[in-house]
Amino acid sequence: MTSTPTLLIIDDDRAICAMLTEIARNLGYRVDSASTAAEIDVAIGRPHDLVMLDLSLGDTDGMVVMRSLAAQHPGARLVLLTGADVSVLSGARRVAEMSGFRVLGAFAKPAPIVELEALLRDEAPLPDPTPDAPSANLRAIVLDALDHGKMFMLYQPIVDFAERRISGAEALVRLDLDGSQAISPAVWVPIIEEAGRTRDLLDVVFRCTTHDRAHVPALQALENISLNLSLLDLADLQLPEHAEMALHQASPPGSWTLELTETAEISTLHDALDVLVRLRLKGFRIAMDDFGTGASTLDRLKELPLTSLKADRRFIRTVFHDSEHSVSMLKAAVELGAALGLKVVAEGIETADELELARSVGCDYGQGYFIGKPVRAEAFGVLVASWLLQNEPATD
Ligand code: C2E
Ligand code: MG
Ligand code: MG
Repeated sequence: MTSTPTLLIIDDDRAICAMLTEIARNLGYRVDSASTAAEIDVAIGRPHDLVMLDLSLGDTDGMVVMRSLAAQHPGARLVLLTGADVSVLSGARRVAEMSGFRVLGAFAKPAPIVELEALLRDEAPLPDPTPDAPSANLRAIVLDALDHGKMFMLYQPIVDFAERRISGAEALVRLDLDGSQAISPAVWVPIIEEAGRTRDLLDVVFRCTTHDRAHVPALQALENISLNLSLLDLADLQLPEHAEMALHQASPPGSWTLELTETAEISTLHDALDVLVRLRLKGFRIAMDDFGTGASTLDRLKELPLTSLKADRRFIRTVFHDSEHSVSMLKAAVELGAALGLKVVAEGIETADELELARSVGCDYGQGYFIGKPVRAEAFGVLVASWLLQNEPATD
């Protein structure tokens, strides 16, 4: 990670390059742009934190550029743009994902400025954990925090639309080190996974959440608290017994949801299904997290013993470039959930309109900054009280 994020814009339309450059510079990015095949060749030789790639380029095409980019910077973070239709975009996105890119967004032109700006703001690499720490130190910092239990949980409220009250929370882990709390676990959990230490992380998460739930009345009062599992946790055949032993003391299994990230690997992961079935038999609930970002087919979903789907926040954003399209996708997620007997949670609700949209298409639960940002356990009661003040709960 660098303190000044870098962006490469590849588009044969120089006016678009100029416009995006201006937006990104205002957000603190150092920007390079390339419009011709020769410029692109030079530009992709240098690493960038983020690459915006137009698929239709004049003297070359985006898929060819993608191949060279994959060879030189495997795993790069990519945003796709195209003037072609949405199905081309979905196909290109799939190719990019299969080539190992982290695809942060795929947009039809004309470029959806508000959405692109929000994405650039969200995706600017976070500052280094301490002002002087070189990024190579992140691994050492994270593993040290794990060894010494320097982690804590934040709790983000989940609202039950039918009852119009906060009935649950998602527990999200944070590093408890000066200046490091701002680093999303999405950045550093992979370091723990790579080190084969996910069981240790899970132990910390179990220890912190059971402590918080047992000591904080507002958490005790919740019907459900959700915890995120790493995919690798599902390879541990002891997980059901371990989870039951660790969590039951604070609250029965039926009041815990374990969230899995949607990924093709679940079905190929040896023993995962066995573990999931036994977790359900013990009474735990299981949610498919970030639904819509992965590769679940209907068959695959049917095989998994799920209780809920969490529709990824990309569906809910009304500023999405193609909001008709995303609303129908959200509706489809709700219908799929209903057909499979699952509850649907809408993630990433940031405005009153988005909350209304989630409710109106039939989502059962909602989560997002508009309802409440993740907070420390001790602050959860205040958050519930202020929600109650502004929203009358349903009486029947
Ligand atoms: P997730 O499970 O999908 O969690 C939701 C993420 O979206 C959280 O980021 C949350 O702060 C953020 N979020 C919530 N509402 C909004 C919103 O309205 N707008 C936007 N832009 N973002 C919103 P966070 O805490 O940085 O966590 C990122 C990911 O890290 C999580 O995604 C989850 O996959 C992983 N993670 C978090 N805690 C744990 C943990 O205890 N164990 C493991 N293995 N992974 C964890
Ligand atoms: Mg989650
Ligand atoms: Mg999620």
